[in-house]
Amino acid sequence: MNTASPITALKGVGEKTAALFHRVGVDTVGELLSYYPRTYDLYEKPVTFANLEMERIQAVTGRIGRMPDTKKAGRLAVTTVTLEEFGAYLHLNWFNMPFLRNTLRPGNTYIFRGKVQKKKGRMVMEQPEIYETDAYERLLDTMQPVYGLTAGLSNKTVTKAVRQALDELNLDPEYLPDRIRRDQELAEYNFALRSIHFPVRKEDLLLARKRLVFDEFFLFILALRRLREQTEMEKNECVIRPDAQTERLLASLPYALTGAQQRVWEEIQSDMAGETVMNRLIQGDVGSGKTVIAVLALAAAAECGYQGALMAPTEVLARQHAQSVEEMFQNCGVKAEIVLLTGSMTAKEKREAYGKIESGEAAIVVGTHALIQEKVRFFRLGLVVTDEQHRFGVRQRETLADKGLHPHVLVMSATPIPRTLAIIIYGDLDISVIDEMPKGRLPIKNCVVDESWRPNAYRFLEKEVAAGRQVYIICPMVEENPELEIENVVDYTKKLRGSLNPSIVIEYLHGKMKAAQKNEIMERFAAGEIQVLVSTTVIEVGVNVPNATVMMVENAERFGLAQLHQLRGRVGRGKHQSYCIFISGSDSKDTKKRLEILNKSNDGFYIASEDLKLRGPGDLFGIRQSGSLEFKIGDIFTDAKVLQAASEEAAKLQKLDPGLALPEHHGLQKKLLEYQNEGMGRMSL
Ligand code: ADP
Ligand code: MG
Repeated sequence: MNTASPITALKGVGEKTAALFHRVGVDTVGELLSYYPRTYDLYEKPVTFANLEMERIQAVTGRIGRMPDTKKAGRLAVTTVTLEEFGAYLHLNWFNMPFLRNTLRPGNTYIFRGKVQKKKGRMVMEQPEIYETDAYERLLDTMQPVYGLTAGLSNKTVTKAVRQALDELNLDPEYLPDRIRRDQELAEYNFALRSIHFPVRKEDLLLARKRLVFDEFFLFILALRRLREQTEMEKNECVIRPDAQTERLLASLPYALTGAQQRVWEEIQSDMAGETVMNRLIQGDVGSGKTVIAVLALAAAAECGYQGALMAPTEVLARQHAQSVEEMFQNCGVKAEIVLLTGSMTAKEKREAYGKIESGEAAIVVGTHALIQEKVRFFRLGLVVTDEQHRFGVRQRETLADKGLHPHVLVMSATPIPRTLAIIIYGDLDISVIDEMPKGRLPIKNCVVDESWRPNAYRFLEKEVAAGRQVYIICPMVEENPELEIENVVDYTKKLRGSLNPSIVIEYLHGKMKAAQKNEIMERFAAGEIQVLVSTTVIEVGVNVPNATVMMVENAERFGLAQLHQLRGRVGRGKHQSYCIFISGSDSKDTKKRLEILNKSNDGFYIASEDLKLRGPGDLFGIRQSGSLEFKIGDIFTDAKVLQAASEEAAKLQKLDPGLALPEHHGLQKKLLEYQNEGMGRMSL
């Protein structure tokens, strides 16, 4: 067995489990080892009811008084036990586990462990783990890994597989040169790998994490630097100069470009007409108007006889983009065939689209990333634009180069990273920043309230709907139990229908719905046929319905600030005053402080930096910034110092031994090649 072995090489992992692992992106033993825990469970001493803290995972000791109750609630069977201690009550709920009636014996004492919440004035623990007292004793004070899961894949299964892999694999020898390890005070690689999964002490975990974060950044930057050397030389074979048609499009817009948009558009024009191929990143906060820049570039490419591809992270967004491009083109009489390519299209529709792209009939292709990358053969591809979340990098560029294509590349991102970091991370790209919002926008009005305010919020929604506006409501996802997520959204919608004026059309949207269903809902919402859309965070990125003026987020405390900012970006896109209501289910001080940042500011950069201050670099496993930069373990904000160090070491190394030819660099050379072949981690390069 080696790191490249399929995961089925592990005992107890058959085809069925392998398929589940595949869903979380793990196919090989090596990928399993770098499937780092999401967090760790610390098994602390049980506490008395009086000392329970809300919203924290804790353990209690409890004696079962009588046989547990099981009741139906919708599609769920809820089993409940009520514990009593010195006159205080704690209610335990389990979903769809009726067999517990046979497990939990009246008269016996168990340890229950879970998050304690206040619900309707009662203390509740949902889905607590159950331990015999002596079993818990053995776990006491240990740190157990908690992995990201999917329905059917249990934490126990992942833990066992990782343990086996670590035990049986001949791990890679240390590959970092001694000098770097000494200067940066980095732990040994195999120690780090073991300790990140099964830390014996908190200090080991910190050391392990630092080492692995360093490696992740270091390899990424080294690979990037190599890439930069190659791409900078790449000659521009698709000279694109916008002409009358693009000018017409610009003139037909219902608004003038902002100064920042104008500047970025000029940079793009000079890139596309320049000596070398364009590789540019456009950074701009949500709502700063990136789409129109992409459309202008695509129009210019089409005008010069080149095909353009616009790639979006979700199907909903791809459809919406195709529609806006079409509208903008129609408004000014530009004739260019736009072809949509998404996963939910039938095989026949896809074939038809492929045909048009290959023959050159299609001037612009809009689709989700995978579809455009894989099978498509272009006739004369001149420009690739990727919107939100995904970088376009080594892999894709190589795939295209293999087909003889060297298009211009434009990457658009709303992730607010400071310029100094951006230069390190996007070392292979030139950077443009749209640092100005379109004029005439009314700033979004925010409020952070607790659950008791919900009825007022509902009355407010009704008023907005009566005025012709539309509303988003975000239900939190239930991370511990993906199945519950659907129940959650469906239940919420049902209740909402009972609470709001019955003439209001309310629909829901969640990640597990079929693409065609999602599209239908989104289209009806965009057309104004649905007034209130209850959704999980699937609508987080890019969705543009300017008539929507209220974003209400339930359990706002469960989301990262960057994510909340993205969600808020769905409103305030038109001429009407917009509102964002954050409902917080927690009255902890930290939560209040965090949400207060959003309350005060609508500026993504400010929010990111304040969030960082609050979390601080010591915050190991706080909620991550979501966005385009998904490193496996490093966080460009909280690990900014390590990122800087990795960048400096990479620069030094390249001066010292650019080909990594010295004997002490052979291990690194090999590792770097592996890393590049694996597509540079999960960075979708
Ligand atoms: P994002 O940068 O988040 O992708 P969009 O490109 O979706 O933002 O733009 C948000 C909204 O702003 C859209 O409705 C768009 O039509 C509008 N918009 C873009 N540029 C301008 C501008 N210069 N003036 C007024 N409105 C604009
Ligand atoms: Mg956008």
